Amino acid sequence: MDGEFCVVCGRTDRSLVDGLCADCAADRTVLVKVPAHAEVTVCPTCGARQIGSHWERRGASESLSADDLTPLVTVHPDAALRTIRWEETKSTATVRDLVGRARLRFRGTEREAEIALSVRTVHRTCPECSRRSGKYYTAVLQLRGGGDDRTEKARALRERLDGVWAALLGEARRDAQDAFSWREELPEGWDCYFTDTLAARSVARLARQRFGATIRESATLAGRKEGQDLYRVTFCLRFRRAGAPVQP
Ligand SMILES: [Zn+2]
Ligand SMILES: [Zn+2]
Repeated sequence: MDGEFCVVCGRTDRSLVDGLCADCAADRTVLVKVPAHAEVTVCPTCGARQIGSHWERRGASESLSADDLTPLVTVHPDAALRTIRWEETKSTATVRDLVGRARLRFRGTEREAEIALSVRTVHRTCPECSRRSGKYYTAVLQLRGGGDDRTEKARALRERLDGVWAALLGEARRDAQDAFSWREELPEGWDCYFTDTLAARSVARLARQRFGATIRESATLAGRKEGQDLYRVTFCLRFRRAGAPVQP
């Protein structure tokens, strides 16, 4: 021994990093982290999960599993996660509180850590199930260009509107986000389908306030359901390109 000792516990028989043995270093390090509140979006029909803008794991169970929870965990770069055992501590219809007991390896030692997590399950019908189920919707937002700009190519227009849509949906109310079901790409823009007309209208208004869109609203009779006329409402939103030529 060369006389070096851990500055915390004083042991001399351990290898040290920055004056600390592995056990003392681990006590002072956050080895695993989770966001206090997380969200998992599940298609109630097929069990697919929405990951970013795409859908995965069709056929999975609707209830949350380790496959949903473990990706929410961040592990310290010097640690390796071996296992996590999740245990539910409380649950409501949509929110589950869980404790995860993680086993990790950190600088040659085995460690355990506990993390608490609250996960909200958001139900949203995936695009495939929406189509298969006969495309149930009550309102459609049509995203279009300014209408008087002949210089913008169709692909560039769709990409521009795609960016507007991401920003718009990001700012929309939670219930409006939940009512958005799927969208379709068209040469002239995007059609975004909603299962709730009030929610669609709130997004259309947000588009006018925040992105200067013009709105044209129209309704068509789509049939009858349980003795009531069923209307579908179309909101045509026109987004002028910044710096686009203005027609006299
Ligand atoms: Zn020590
Ligand atoms: Zn689905």
